[in-house]
Amino acid sequence: MAQIFDKTWQRTKLCGTFDESDAGQEVRANGWVRARRDLGGIIFIEIWDWTGCIQVVFNPEAGEIHELASKLRNEFCVAVKGKMRIRPEGTENPELKTGNIEIVASDFLVLSKAKPLPFEVGDNTDTVDENIRLKYRYLDMRREKMQKNLRTRAKINAFTRNFLGERNFVELETPMLTKATPEGARDYLVPSRVNQGCFYALPQSPQLFKQILMISGFDRYYQIARCFRDEDLRADRQPEFTQIDIEMSYIVEDDIMNLVEGYMKGLFKEILNTDIPTPFIRMPYWEAMDRYGSDKPDLRVKLELCDLADAFRDSGFEPFRKILEGGGVVRGLRLPGGASMSRKEIMDLEARAIKLGTSGLANFLYKGDGLKGPLVKFLKPEEVDKVRELGNMQPDDALFIVANESRQKACEILGTLRLELGRARADLFDNSPDNWRFLWVTKFPLFEWSAEEKRWAAMHHPFTSPALDNDTPFDEDPANALARAYDCVLNGNEVGGGSIRIHDPDVQARLFKCLGITPEEAKRRFGFFLDALSYGTPPHGGIAFGVDRLVMLMCGGSSIRDVIAFPKTQKAQCLMSGAPDEVEQERLDELAIQVVKEED
Ligand code: ASP
Repeated sequence: MAQIFDKTWQRTKLCGTFDESDAGQEVRANGWVRARRDLGGIIFIEIWDWTGCIQVVFNPEAGEIHELASKLRNEFCVAVKGKMRIRPEGTENPELKTGNIEIVASDFLVLSKAKPLPFEVGDNTDTVDENIRLKYRYLDMRREKMQKNLRTRAKINAFTRNFLGERNFVELETPMLTKATPEGARDYLVPSRVNQGCFYALPQSPQLFKQILMISGFDRYYQIARCFRDEDLRADRQPEFTQIDIEMSYIVEDDIMNLVEGYMKGLFKEILNTDIPTPFIRMPYWEAMDRYGSDKPDLRVKLELCDLADAFRDSGFEPFRKILEGGGVVRGLRLPGGASMSRKEIMDLEARAIKLGTSGLANFLYKGDGLKGPLVKFLKPEEVDKVRELGNMQPDDALFIVANESRQKACEILGTLRLELGRARADLFDNSPDNWRFLWVTKFPLFEWSAEEKRWAAMHHPFTSPALDNDTPFDEDPANALARAYDCVLNGNEVGGGSIRIHDPDVQARLFKCLGITPEEAKRRFGFFLDALSYGTPPHGGIAFGVDRLVMLMCGGSSIRDVIAFPKTQKAQCLMSGAPDEVEQERLDELAIQVVKEED
């Protein structure tokens, strides 16, 4: 009778956890075959699971099972029984945890066969085309790296639940089938069959629901929440992603920051056994822009921007003087040792700056006894000195300059060059794996101007409270109004963002007005929320963390797809299941939907 997998075949240990103390014992192992070798009639195989592998030996005398073993291919799923022994001297493999033991097979069962493989599962190099990995994701996830990443992800989730649970946070689920949320991206829509012509939106975040939970008296809420945004996917975005979503009542910014710092400290200790320093630096948005040219500065890069306005304000170099007179800025980036760059390198850098959206990239090179460069002849000697001083230039340095009407634009362009130049040089970039540079970026602008729509848009979302120390009421000076918003930044990545919310319906109405949202539109889009707001709302605020990015950073990876079990491609497709897919006409009829395909 054919053998079946019953408990007499169940593993006595996971493959990688056998050790010398098992020698002499009858043991059983279950797993996948990798690395079969036939050495003069003796067959060796490795059986793998997520903990590692154990070698199994089939002697020619073993008869039927030796015959079976000779036909094995990689990734057959098998069970083996046998006696564990210490490997004969000279046959140990010091590269394996179990390299000095092996099972001598006495019985063997092929649980299921594997077709020829699209790639070598045991190979841990990243040479396999990603589309093939995504198509055969089940095989890809058998690989050591993916096992490690996804298990780390699970540990992070478990730590999160414990940490927040111990602090009286209530884990609550908010709906997936809901109304459009205020995050500002495009919604995924789901047609309703029973309410024909109506659509649910998948949540871009649980924002309004978590705020309503505060109104309902759940003064500490969290959720490991799936969120959806239908955007054209940039390199490392997913249409569905996971957030650790948090909201608290009766708090100010410090409370969120303290909570998160304690959480990160505990998490990094638990997962990576490192001590990250707390409290994190707090830096207002404009300081981050002025110094690092980014609202998510990578503090591992040892370069800062400088302000050169004082050198050019009265100078004979008219283009810069005019930009300054018009309210623009002249900003610089010093590159230590940059004076030895070739003409071509400098021209390439300028081309890069132009591509980023400015008209040119001026430069000064500190060569020999002073500054050289195309602008020197337009400046008085004391102005050249001023450039050197403001740029903090040392011999052999280069200074690259962007003049622009927009402070933001000039900073952002230099900020991009800062990263590109800095990260390329070991002396300017401390890329060691335990260099975790956290900071808070605070005091974000409340609004940003949408040139497309010719109106103000909320920089975070329209429920974010204006700062309390704005010089003028936010609606009288929207351009300069600041918000009670904060981002948690790690090594140049925004890992979390949140704000203190508006809890006063009047303030909320004024804010909508600034955004050009009429009371009717506000009622239509957020009426349920505005109603709730008018029934005794506690002051509250919160934050949300991007789990995918956080896990990726903690796993030392460079793609969020490597920490998501079933990710989608940049075209938002699942190559394994084939989603999204067409549906039968009947389904569409039920939904009263007609598909009109564009002609090619
Ligand atoms: N809902 C916000 C977001 O998804 C985060 C927050 O304000 O808590 O970006």
